[in-house]
Amino acid sequence: MASRDEFAKSVTDALAKRVGVRCSNPGCRRATAGPRTEPTKTVNIGVAAHITAASAGGPRYSASLTAEQRSSIENAIWLCQNCAKLVDNDSDRYTANLLGAWKARAEEDARAAVEGFPEGSQLVVNLTLEWRRKRITSERHDYQLNVFVQNVGQGRLQNYYLEVEVPTDVLIDLTGRVEGRSDNERSLFRQMAKDSDEIAIANEKKKVRTIASK
Ligand SMILES: [Zn+2]
Repeated sequence: MASRDEFAKSVTDALAKRVGVRCSNPGCRRATAGPRTEPTKTVNIGVAAHITAASAGGPRYSASLTAEQRSSIENAIWLCQNCAKLVDNDSDRYTANLLGAWKARAEEDARAAVEGFPEGSQLVVNLTLEWRRKRITSERHDYQLNVFVQNVGQGRLQNYYLEVEVPTDVLIDLTGRVEGRSDNERSLFRQMAKDSDEIAIANEKKKVRTIASK
């Protein structure tokens, strides 16, 4: 039987606290700890998930890591049970790089939450929604929702994360909706920019998402 390189409890505890005991998936971020009915007990729905698998054949397994590296905090990401299952079921979509980015972002968010917003903090992004009529006939009305991001900060806008949820029954096509988080009632669209230079210039405005609807 293949050996599994599990995390020590000290690693798991530090991992959870470094992200404020919340799921590190930016589309989820649910709290993973809370009270149990018994006054001294807690409930935990968080998991220290492996970025590259604990044993050969597992999701994102990397043979180049030593057992020590595989069970180190660098190879761990704190997720809720749902998201841990999600990322292990589709390792082509949820790559080690993507999970690393989630972790870094979750730690940044936790740091900002602990520090509080600095005095005089500035708005860095304007979000614009534009609703256009595309085709109006007596039988059918087609519209388009355009989502724009404008950099109004001092520096480059290299990382952002955007989600738009639309009632499914008004959509003309479902291209680009996030499977797994969309259902018959609501469709979720996600836009992610990571370490990009795409909105480099101050005041630059860019259309980041188009959604066709009726
Ligand atoms: Zn989650």
